[in-house]
Amino acid sequence: MADLIVLTDRGLYCEAGDFFIDAWRPVHRTFVTHGHSDHAHAGMGEYWCTRAGEDILRWRLGAQDFRVLDYGEVRRFGGVKVSLHPAGHVLGSAQVRVERDDEVWVFTGDFKRQPDPTCAPFEVVRCDVFICEATFAFPVYAWPDTRDEVTRILQWREQCEAQGKAALVYAYSLGKAQRILAELNGRVNGTVLLHGAMARGVEVYRSAGIDMASTELVADLPASTDYAGRLILAPPSAQNSAWTRRFRSFEQGLASGWMQLRGNRRRRNLQRGFVISDHADWGALITTIRDSGARRVLATHGNTDALIPYLESELGLVAERLRTEYGDEEDAPDAPEDARDPGAIP
Ligand SMILES: [Zn+2]
Ligand SMILES: [Zn+2]
Repeated sequence: MADLIVLTDRGLYCEAGDFFIDAWRPVHRTFVTHGHSDHAHAGMGEYWCTRAGEDILRWRLGAQDFRVLDYGEVRRFGGVKVSLHPAGHVLGSAQVRVERDDEVWVFTGDFKRQPDPTCAPFEVVRCDVFICEATFAFPVYAWPDTRDEVTRILQWREQCEAQGKAALVYAYSLGKAQRILAELNGRVNGTVLLHGAMARGVEVYRSAGIDMASTELVADLPASTDYAGRLILAPPSAQNSAWTRRFRSFEQGLASGWMQLRGNRRRRNLQRGFVISDHADWGALITTIRDSGARRVLATHGNTDALIPYLESELGLVAERLRTEYGDEEDAPDAPEDARDPGAIP
């Protein structure tokens, strides 16, 4: 029987149900797993997503023809049944489960297994064919506990304060920033300051009932403000921008899975790297693939050089790469060269 989901030049396509998933060129009907810019594009006909995902997509794409499913709700499209399940990646993020007769396919979108107070935890969905992301598919990626990384942010802020400096943390404005603010809730004194590009996303999460540390916009503060000891969140694109000059004396840190490699921190002229990622690390990828029960795995974005041989030789699975156009919202360095250490594969 033909594959239930195939790669086309517009996105992943299910002919039996006549819909796309995370299409990157205009199509009449697409599921959207979450709001990051490599998965959610303007110009589609119907957008199928989760209820919380719709609020995010409205923020990112404006008014569109949104069609909403609750997690676990089953809807028939042509000859298949489709349901959405939590991916644990960002608020409203979903895996897409597609069932035809006795065959089940699952597309994870981006996912993680670490606890995250801002979204529903990843749900294991059993399937025959598992399409998963491979953003951090090297054994060198093993995430520390997020609470410990947030403790490091707080300790660093104290050091900055003692030196009369501001502590500027760069974090992606959908998901990462809100997760950090949620982890800081009750642990940080006073308000966390935000770059203007963070404002709307934080608002969307607050309206969805996510508890986060209280925040203020830098733009709302008087020019005479002393930023010494203040914790400030900004998108990575703000690094080296004129916007940072007002802080006069400051240190910079980035919250990203890429910070696991010291070289990445040095190359980007950062004083600190905080290893906080919304993707699965190597261990979580392998565990999740095992948990799915799938005999066949198709890996999307990321580097699959280590993953595919491992799945074939160690787990005895059929594994292939799907060349999608999904990128990495975490602002990846050009290539994780120093991550390639086949000898480190357990
Ligand atoms: Zn994503
Ligand atoms: Zn992605």
